[in-house]
Amino acid sequence: MIDVAIIGTGVCGAAVARELSKYRDLQIVCLEKDTDVANGTSKANSGIVHAGYDPKPGTLMAKYNVKGNAMIRQLAKDLDIPYRQNGSLVVAFDDEDMKTVQALYQRGLENGVPDLSVIDAQEVRRLEPNINPDIKGALYAKSAGVISPWELAIAQMEVAVQNGVEVRLETEVTGISLCGDHFEVTVKTNQGTEVLETKFVVNAAGVHSEEVCSYISKPNFHIVPNKGQYYLLDKTQGALVERVIFQCPSKVGKGVLVSPTAHGNLIVGPDAVDVNNAEDVSTTAQQLAFVRNTAARTCDKINYRESIRNFAGVRAQGTVDEFIVGTVPETDRFINIANIKSPGLTSSPAIAVDVVSMMGEAGLPLKEKDDYVKTRQIVRFRELDEAGKQRIIEKDPRYGRVICRCETITEGEIVAAIHAPIGARTVDGVKRRCNAGMGRCQGGFCSPRVLDIICRETGLKPEEIRKDKAGSNILIGQTPKGQDKASV
Ligand SMILES: Cc1cc2nc3c(=O)[nH]c(=O)nc-3n(C[C@H](O)[C@H](O)[C@H](O)COP(=O)(O)OP(=O)(O)OC[C@H]3O[C@@H](n4cnc5c(N)ncnc54)[C@H](O)[C@@H]3O)c2cc1C
Repeated sequence: MIDVAIIGTGVCGAAVARELSKYRDLQIVCLEKDTDVANGTSKANSGIVHAGYDPKPGTLMAKYNVKGNAMIRQLAKDLDIPYRQNGSLVVAFDDEDMKTVQALYQRGLENGVPDLSVIDAQEVRRLEPNINPDIKGALYAKSAGVISPWELAIAQMEVAVQNGVEVRLETEVTGISLCGDHFEVTVKTNQGTEVLETKFVVNAAGVHSEEVCSYISKPNFHIVPNKGQYYLLDKTQGALVERVIFQCPSKVGKGVLVSPTAHGNLIVGPDAVDVNNAEDVSTTAQQLAFVRNTAARTCDKINYRESIRNFAGVRAQGTVDEFIVGTVPETDRFINIANIKSPGLTSSPAIAVDVVSMMGEAGLPLKEKDDYVKTRQIVRFRELDEAGKQRIIEKDPRYGRVICRCETITEGEIVAAIHAPIGARTVDGVKRRCNAGMGRCQGGFCSPRVLDIICRETGLKPEEIRKDKAGSNILIGQTPKGQDKASV
């Protein structure tokens, strides 16, 4: 019998898995319908560690945001995740915006946000010389930062696995029933259907959390998926702004931001549009034009010819403006982590702490391990000094072969990503673990070589390797003899 089944491996599921893995004698299993961890909303967002002035005081969103922001600072160090505390500005373009800035400042104070101030136009221009000069002032939050969002989830899951947690990918939960002192969880896999028995269930299914909750209880929330589209620009644009630059928030969200990413690119977006299909991550020329035009108010120096990728993420936007974190009326052994829109990424480590103590209160024995390993480290060849590079190449010559030239990612790093605790099995899985394919050419040159390395290291056939999601196989078979020369 499983002790805890966690449904979903985004940042919330991963944070709960890591937090639970501190305790001994528990069988913890993560069930994920996708081909990789962190392949839902957690990989497609702004990657901002919000300061916490935005949520209404007294809400769970406010509490978890401020606490999560502080926790991430330490987590990023422990887990070796790209993160930078670069601060954020909410800029005001007129007197009306200045009133919003003042209101956000007061809210921030109530929420306990540290290092918050309202600054005048001159100070904004000094801090950010490239943003448009016709601004009135800004809210400056020094505790805000940028993080690699998918690595926040992957690294936590790797630590959880290192400490005994099991992750089952391509395992979709399709039903749950409460059977006295345990649950029966029906899962669909590539092999068929299976029923798992577990004492506790954590629902961290993101945009599908309402559906998963409905298997066991009538949800007290309703999710309307809401899509946000982005531009990701090359590193040539990454230093245009130093901080995260927001415009004043509106009812539908925090608005279009311009920010450096944790990897040194520039990100511009998102918009906010309700969609019927929670899996719809398409981008459209119309909405991207909206993003560009709105961002131009903040900074008109962005060179969109340096755009290397457009992408979209879907918010688990609820009709209730609050996170749903807690048990259901039927049982205190089923815990929802639902309605986790922004600032969900920032809040996730703090949510996990509360979720684990809720399970403790409901009878899960929480006995701390003596041998818990809380850290993870990976080699980033390009960040080593010359002596370090030399040393690692001598130890393993595969670090001397650069596969991704845009990002200077070596064969050694790709092999390490494949043999990590939850090893990459897709080309994008490699990209998210070690950055191969993240650069200017977006994998145009290195993808075939990455595919080859995955085959060599795993024994999988080339036709079995997917770019990312199910069905995204890159090759379909050998070209028949005689047809293997291009016809002119
Ligand atoms: C456009 C946008 C911008 C954002 N910007 C920020 C930001 O800058 N800062 C911030 O703090 N937050 C931000 N957020 C919010 C943040 O990204 C989310 O709150 C967070 O990623 C949610 O994580 P999660 O683990 O709850 O969900 P997800 O990451 O979606 O994970 C849920 C997982 O559950 C799996 N799943 C679903 N159903 C099943 C099933 N039946 N069986 C098995 N598995 C299942 C999915 O495949 C998925 O992997 C943003 C969100 C969006 C969309």
